Amino acid sequence: MEYIERIVQSQRKFWNRGETRSLAYRIEALNKLEQVVKDWESKLLEGLYQDLRKADYEAYASEIGMVLAELEFAKKHLSRWSAPCKVPSVLPIFPAKSYIQKDPYGVVLIISPWNYPIQLALIPLISAIAGGNCVIIKPSEHSTASSSVLKGLIEAAFPEEYVTVIEGDVKVNTELLRQKFDYIFFTGSTQVGRIVMEAAAKHLTPVTLELGGKSPVIIISEEHLSLTARRIVWGKFLNAGQTCVAPDHIWVPEHLRDDLVRELGAQIQNLYGTAPLQSPDLPKIINENHFNRISRMLSCGTIAIGGERDLERCMIEPTVLVDITQQDFVMEEEIFGPVLPILTYSSLDALLLSLQQKPSPLALYLFGGNKADEEKVMRMLPSGGVCINDTVIQLSNPNLPFGGIGDSGIGTCHGKYGFDTFTHHRAVVRRGRLDLPVRYAPYGKKSLKKLKKMI
Ligand code: NAD
Repeated sequence: MEYIERIVQSQRKFWNRGETRSLAYRIEALNKLEQVVKDWESKLLEGLYQDLRKADYEAYASEIGMVLAELEFAKKHLSRWSAPCKVPSVLPIFPAKSYIQKDPYGVVLIISPWNYPIQLALIPLISAIAGGNCVIIKPSEHSTASSSVLKGLIEAAFPEEYVTVIEGDVKVNTELLRQKFDYIFFTGSTQVGRIVMEAAAKHLTPVTLELGGKSPVIIISEEHLSLTARRIVWGKFLNAGQTCVAPDHIWVPEHLRDDLVRELGAQIQNLYGTAPLQSPDLPKIINENHFNRISRMLSCGTIAIGGERDLERCMIEPTVLVDITQQDFVMEEEIFGPVLPILTYSSLDALLLSLQQKPSPLALYLFGGNKADEEKVMRMLPSGGVCINDTVIQLSNPNLPFGGIGDSGIGTCHGKYGFDTFTHHRAVVRRGRLDLPVRYAPYGKKSLKKLKKMI
């Protein structure tokens, strides 16, 4: 694996030349990236179909379109984000000018997962380029078709010493993590996030960890139940549930459960027809391991909707489970598949107390509450983000930070938050020549009273 060390060294050499720091260089690189993403659109769609059976429409909306929107946003705002930010000076340093300079970190590593293999590699890349860094991307070994298109696309746009893709499995990633990077941006599971952070600690490399978790939906009342069901079905079964912010499970008042199941059934039929396994719009499960893992969850509780599977094509119907308790296997780990358990509650306060015992999720979804309910839920339950009366769409607003808290992650991305992630905010003070004697020894005759007043 000497090639890995060689690439890191060549990037460091290139970084030291300082070219990537200029605003013009960054803008040109973003333009180039935009051009190749547009030129390679059909290859990207093909890769995504091969890996995950994503329909072109869904693939464009949730991958390519998001990348182009992020590029547009970054190009529009980059000169403002990267400009030195003046701040007031204080009396003890008078006369002085103070400002914050946004410095790139240097050579950074982006590790991405398989579920949105294009978007989750390229959106951090946009922020890293905007920040002025050199970048190595390590895509997932499970989405091989998309990873190889990604490699081709990056090779077409950039020299290896600036931005490159290194494909490979855990061994390759382990070797990469042995190298010294100036920043590591990881998207993936909580379990591997811990490994990444441990490896980064050896070099004191700062990290962003975009992880997962069990994002709950809490339904408070029957208000607009049909729309609630429609929005949950969309967010849950997008990419066959293999979405980090997908609603993991639903909490609903006992008396509303059957109405909800009916509405969910109607909406699943609206979106995927009466034979969802034949729908051109239902993606597949990434591989047989995950197919088997998700299949085991179907033995929990009672299947109220769906449950059909096709091992050969790695597809599982949108499935709703009822009669589930917190002790069931399906409630132990992130589902990350098209299985939606429904749990019931009788008291919102008691539910919130029990959810406080769980790891903080990446997203929290709330439907049908009044302002007081919403405030109470948000006060009591921390989460990476919150979406009220909808699911998943919170991550499409580049003006909002995207990231987790606790077990669901550290740090944020998207828009300015992504730019800030990939830049060090360096404090700079420029002093004037006037030199007041107040700070210098001997202190003997100086008044402590005056010093206290000044400070
Ligand atoms: P994963 O953690 O298995 O893999 C992510 C990356 O880590 C891959 O590139 C893989 O090669 C590497 N890796 C795997 N095992 C490793 C090991 N032992 N040592 C070093 N590197 C290793 O995650 P995944 O299965 O690809 O993705 C699914 C997970 O990612 C879910 O938990 C999901 O919630 C999470 N996710 C989070 C976000 C987010 O933005 N917060 C987005 C998408 C997915």
